[in-house]
Amino acid sequence: MSTLKVVPLGGAGEIGKNCTVVEQGDDLIVVDVGLSFPHEEHYGVDIVVPDFTYLLENREKIRGIFLTHAHEDHVGALSFLLPHLKVPLVCTQFTAAMVRSKLEERMHIKDVEFKIVNPGDKVDAGQLSVEFVRVTHSIPETCALAVRTEHGVVFFTADFKFDFSPVDGKQTDMTRLSEIGEEGVVLLMSDSTNVDRPGWGPSESIVVEGLRRVVQQAPGRVLVTMFSSNIHRMQQVFDVARETGRKVTSTGRRMETTIDMCRRLEYLRLPHDLYIRIDDVGKYAANEIIVLTTGSQGEPMAALSQMSRKEYSRLQVAEGDTIVYSARPIPGNEGAIMRVVNRLYKMGANVVLDSDSPIHASGHAYQEEIKLMVNLLKPFYIAPVHGEPRHQHVYNELAQQMGWPEHRVFTLSNGDCLCMDDEKAWIDQPVVWGEVLIDQHGNVPVNDEVLGQRAALAHDGVIVVSLALDVKAGDIVGKPEAQVRGFSGPEEAVFDALDDLCGALAKLLPNEVRDVDKVRVLAAETVRKTVSRRCQQRPVVISVVCEI
Ligand SMILES: [Zn+2]
Ligand SMILES: [Zn+2]
Repeated sequence: MSTLKVVPLGGAGEIGKNCTVVEQGDDLIVVDVGLSFPHEEHYGVDIVVPDFTYLLENREKIRGIFLTHAHEDHVGALSFLLPHLKVPLVCTQFTAAMVRSKLEERMHIKDVEFKIVNPGDKVDAGQLSVEFVRVTHSIPETCALAVRTEHGVVFFTADFKFDFSPVDGKQTDMTRLSEIGEEGVVLLMSDSTNVDRPGWGPSESIVVEGLRRVVQQAPGRVLVTMFSSNIHRMQQVFDVARETGRKVTSTGRRMETTIDMCRRLEYLRLPHDLYIRIDDVGKYAANEIIVLTTGSQGEPMAALSQMSRKEYSRLQVAEGDTIVYSARPIPGNEGAIMRVVNRLYKMGANVVLDSDSPIHASGHAYQEEIKLMVNLLKPFYIAPVHGEPRHQHVYNELAQQMGWPEHRVFTLSNGDCLCMDDEKAWIDQPVVWGEVLIDQHGNVPVNDEVLGQRAALAHDGVIVVSLALDVKAGDIVGKPEAQVRGFSGPEEAVFDALDDLCGALAKLLPNEVRDVDKVRVLAAETVRKTVSRRCQQRPVVISVVCEI
């Protein structure tokens, strides 16, 4: 029997860019192809995607890309992989519809082959096969994947929770989970996002009560900001609107296209006169309107952020409006969110945050739900993923409390090659992996050198030194000059640097002056050193040498 390999190319030790390979002999499948968002030091970077070298090197073996659900951290990087790789995407109808609309923004999708499945379906992939098992999450038709291998089932929980009163009535398929557990799960790849939250997570359906209360008490318009993919939440907003006699409209292109698509495919249930176009808002009193809007994470270009800067022409925030944040801040976004919130207050609006009222419920399992999943599946090995190292650490302790010995719980990092044969499992040499940083203009990766320069520019600014050479005579012409942008050190530091540069240039022999490159390096180095000595700042120094 051949060795079974499970390799996370992203999503292990982080929340984001989920992408995992399962490989046995000549067959390989990919589970999810997601993106993540940049850290604060990623200047000018808009998205981060996994390095796909390993997939491209093994392209002949790939039998399909299997998608658990349509969140960006699971499907957002497809448009960077599919132009280089022609393999079918296997997913549910809802996931396919969301992926199609996202891919259309970036590439021709005529060439992309979709295989549509229903929860419960099994799909062959060479010697492997994949079964889709319904789980509850904050987006419709999320499926865990049971990958059958020669060594047993490798089970991907996907992002899941156990919601016993879900908005769409479709619960996690516990019967099937326990049957698969009986069959024999060799490895559980488990969501660990909320492993540090004790107890059971609240059902999505509790949100309706919080929303109802806020809407009933709101004197004017209510603007609800949330992820445009959270269809269950949207449904609850429509339900509350119907009960309270309000109409619903939406802003933000993604929100509008998602609502249109979900109404067409009947993932949203609403009478047709409940939803109005934004241009018709003026026909109604303020207390007859609810607006669904993007911008829950403080994204600068989202509709709500633009409204807070009075830059959104289609709708202005006014005194008496109530803004409801119905989403959890992604760690790192809190500052941007609060800047928007403060501007909204200054405009006379009231803002309701998650902490004020039950207006949000997480889509990820809390500790007791994770224990339930582990107990149903009874895996031999466990690898917590979809979590940072701190989540993996808590998960490992939890698994050990539940009786799993340490050597059967793996803390994987991206690129790790988790190998299994009939006797044991071990982590082998990592495959080629990494992160590719992409800016808003598209496909050109931003490398570390560029990032380093951007960080230096942002931190200490730039000094441009220019000087002229008479190459024939081997002479410096005139005096060097400096221009400064974004540098906050004392002016004298720059004057001193120029004096030092004059001194250094005076020592050069005529044939040394003729070496333009040498003069350029000398100029930059001398200015950099003097400025750094004088004021402990490290601006970027660029030297420009003109030959006369
Ligand atoms: Zn996720
Ligand atoms: Zn998700």
